[in-house]
Amino acid sequence: MRIARFWLNDEARFGVVDGPELRVLNGHPLVSGLEYTGDRVAMKEVKLLAPTVPSKVVCIGKNYAAHAAEIGEEVPDEPLIFLKPSTSIVGPGDSIVLPWQSEHVDLECELTIVIGKITKNIEPEDVDAHIWGYTIANDVTARDLQFEDGQWARSKGFDTFCPLGPWIETEFEVEGATLESRINGEVIQHADTTDMVFNVRDIVSHVSKNMTLLPGDIILTGSPAGITPIKNGDIIECEIEGIGTLLNPVQSQ
Ligand code: MG
Repeated sequence: MRIARFWLNDEARFGVVDGPELRVLNGHPLVSGLEYTGDRVAMKEVKLLAPTVPSKVVCIGKNYAAHAAEIGEEVPDEPLIFLKPSTSIVGPGDSIVLPWQSEHVDLECELTIVIGKITKNIEPEDVDAHIWGYTIANDVTARDLQFEDGQWARSKGFDTFCPLGPWIETEFEVEGATLESRINGEVIQHADTTDMVFNVRDIVSHVSKNMTLLPGDIILTGSPAGITPIKNGDIIECEIEGIGTLLNPVQSQ
């Protein structure tokens, strides 16, 4: 099932994707369950929003060996955690705005876990029941500032640096799914989730032992190799087989 969040009659609403339509839900599905209003709207008639409003955006760094190598780093011994501010999130179709402070902004297409309930100190074998579903994020990064600053809050935290969507797939099969990013239709990254160093269960368990995850929180599971600079006017697509495609244009500040 695919759960989208969208703008309808001056309100953010949730709905279930049904072909080209959305079946409108009452309230938040993690609170109210799947309570249908009976209304349907054409997806092309509404503005899709980021599908969750998390308390925090947790990210895993260097989780694909080929990506760690391309930035001259080793794969870590345990999942490397960093955070992006919730204010970096934008939805499908929204612009990624290049900040004047950077001369080198890269895309990073990442499989993203959406947490379904309060998650603290859990073991890998108990993780599945805590996952609401999966979506796609672009961990946009000002690469020059990442190395200049030494820590990553600024380089990964600018407004619009976390495009998210297009919806949450609740029945996604992680194993063997392909990730692909494209700039203006040209394939930039192409990888398989089996290339991940730490798998989803290990990641969620590890994060939950370091900070409490709340319903709706997201974990970006790391970028494959092929990080590439983006520029004003580019159209960025991040596609994950079994979820969909997240599309965002790029503009200068
Ligand atoms: Mg990343």
